[in-house]
Amino acid sequence: MMQVPLVDLAAQYRSIKADVLKSVEEVLQACGFVLGKPVEEFEEAFARYCGAKYCIGVGSGTDALHLAVRAAGIREDDEVIVPAHTFVATALGVSHAGARPVFVDVDYSTCLIDCAEIERAITEKTRAITVAHLYGRMADMDSILEIARHYKLVVIEDAAQAHGAWKKQHRVGSAGLLGCFSFYPGKNLGAPGDAGAVTTNDPELRANLEALRNYGSSRKYHHPVLGFNSRLDSLHAAVLRVKLAHLDAWNEARYSVAEKYSAALAGVGDLELPAIPERGAHVFHLYVVRTRQRDSLLRHLNSNGIGAAIHYPVPVHRQGVYESLGYGPGSFPVAERLSQEVISLPMCPELKDAQIEYVVDQIKRFF
Ligand SMILES: *Cc1c(COP(=O)(O)O)cnc(C)c1O
Repeated sequence: MMQVPLVDLAAQYRSIKADVLKSVEEVLQACGFVLGKPVEEFEEAFARYCGAKYCIGVGSGTDALHLAVRAAGIREDDEVIVPAHTFVATALGVSHAGARPVFVDVDYSTCLIDCAEIERAITEKTRAITVAHLYGRMADMDSILEIARHYKLVVIEDAAQAHGAWKKQHRVGSAGLLGCFSFYPGKNLGAPGDAGAVTTNDPELRANLEALRNYGSSRKYHHPVLGFNSRLDSLHAAVLRVKLAHLDAWNEARYSVAEKYSAALAGVGDLELPAIPERGAHVFHLYVVRTRQRDSLLRHLNSNGIGAAIHYPVPVHRQGVYESLGYGPGSFPVAERLSQEVISLPMCPELKDAQIEYVVDQIKRFF
């Protein structure tokens, strides 16, 4: 039986091993493990890559979201709009800052926040919209920025699945006021451990974030604000720096894999395939199809060596952690339907044609 993992990190490592080891060795020799040159170099390179003036490396994507919300001055009693269909961390970042996530349903065809629903959720207390470019697909930034301008709201991008995506003049990470990235190992740009970053064009937000990640201090042993210890590790920065040079090529390869899946799976069973927008507008962190027979298809694929998975089985508003917010079943029908129907097929730049063919063949056998 052929084995097709969801993501093949080992294959990626083999392709860049020599450069990674050299870069890591340099940090180990210099012994500057916290902040300093490797982090500054990566921050500069990643800011440039995102078309942003500044990048602030932090400990994880969740911390990036949390610290971004805080840096923007959002506090207790403030409300922040969050899509109901995303990874839970989009909402956790808001909650950690003490603010209240207000969920909004998503669009069935894109799986992204439904812009028409945003305005209905806005109240006197709304301060920000978090937009998740879920699965790697860039959200409709023109509409979101227009709503934000009209209601004077901050736009925070959850870019954890969309490093390198762009559409027209917008680039993920510089389209909103703050861009929040995760470099969790399996992301399009992944570190050898937990890591994240915030991007922005605003020098004041940059200063806030640099203090927040470093015990609330911008002068050593002086702590005017409540800070945290959440810095991007130098070793991780050194690896990310090497990998950043390959990111565009890897995203291109993901796009090709998606095209091959979509060509081969058109018209199979009751599968709904992801719409493939123009190059750049989707960097296919995940290739997600939908079917009413999701659970049995998942069992069939898993038992045939295919690492298909579900992103995500429980919508955020139905998670135990948000029970007290009182969103009952049926609050967001599209998000709830997606949680029953979505299934992610193996997706990574290294996926071989034979593996794609095997996955397609197994899906056809199932139907
Ligand atoms: C991975 C992810 C996060 C959280 O990032 P971590 O680095 O795991 O904390 C946030 N939002 C989305 C959409 C993600 O996929």
